[in-house]
Amino acid sequence: MANSKYEYVKKFEVEDKLPPCNWVILRIDGCHFHRFSAVHDFEKPNDVNALMLMNSCAVAMLEHFPDIAFDYGVSDEYSFIWKETSQFYQRRASKILSLGVSFFTSMYVIKWRDFFPHKELKEPPYFDARIVCYPRAKIVRDYLSWRQVDCHINNQYNTCFWKLVQSGKSEKEAQELLKGTLAKDKNEMLFTQFGINYDKLPAMFKKGSCVYKDHVEETVKIDEAGNPVKRRRQMVVVDHIDIIGNKFWKDHPNILK
Ligand code: ATP
Ligand code: ATP
Ligand code: MG
Ligand code: MG
Ligand code: MG
Ligand code: MG
Repeated sequence: MANSKYEYVKKFEVEDKLPPCNWVILRIDGCHFHRFSAVHDFEKPNDVNALMLMNSCAVAMLEHFPDIAFDYGVSDEYSFIWKETSQFYQRRASKILSLGVSFFTSMYVIKWRDFFPHKELKEPPYFDARIVCYPRAKIVRDYLSWRQVDCHINNQYNTCFWKLVQSGKSEKEAQELLKGTLAKDKNEMLFTQFGINYDKLPAMFKKGSCVYKDHVEETVKIDEAGNPVKRRRQMVVVDHIDIIGNKFWKDHPNILK
């Protein structure tokens, strides 16, 4: 492009390269999803199809952006961990943030029908996004633990809240009844009043969703002798497991390397 006298306007742009040797975490969160979930009649507190739609978009993110090492999602939010060595768009924050959140949002709209074949999308879903850099894998793990603890606390509260509401309490009454209660009080309430053993609820509700690449063994064919021929292949998996303890990270040492 030839230089014009207007070129100088470029000089007003600010440099936004993220520091090197840092893990980059992009977190997105559905905007006004309290209303969005009501408008679309999501089951409370956990609409399985809505969660699976979020997970499917997170899988698409991992497949589309090769520098993403791990995703963690709960409710209307997802965190995407970019490798510390990533040179994606020279680490420009605005590029990573805007491409990530717009790709996710487009996927959400495109895939809506797969998860809600009989529900019309009545409002445009949109997401806020932020980027935070962490200089050490240990802090990335603490970040993920923070989100998973949050998932547990919210799920326990919401499960009690909606059970009370479904049993005839108003939302205000349910809120009052839960004010100041401890985790064990909520577990007790679920068990004695509603016959629910919290530990038996689906892992996706209690632990959230992890998306990452893993080696899986698959049968490619059956040979002449009738034995399965297996092959190890890298595949994107969605898992609902504890990521606070050491076990997951010992089993998957390459994710935060
Ligand atoms: P903000 O715009 O500030 O993020 P918000 O209304 O999205 O506001 P959040 O704190 O992000 O508020 O909470 C997400 C809301 O969306 C909660 O009210 C939650 O109940 C609802 N929600 C999200 N996913 C689901 C789901 N899978 N099933 C049922 N409800 C859901
Ligand atoms: P980048 O990802 O770097 O933006 P790009 O392929 O989007 O790469 P641009 O410089 O943004 O490149 O150029 C936009 C491209 O899209 C051009 O090749 C242009 O021909 C094409 N394009 C955009 N809008 C139209 C349109 N309305 N009709 C035809 N072609 C279009
Ligand atoms: Mg928010
Ligand atoms: Mg939200
Ligand atoms: Mg949220
Ligand atoms: Mg372009």
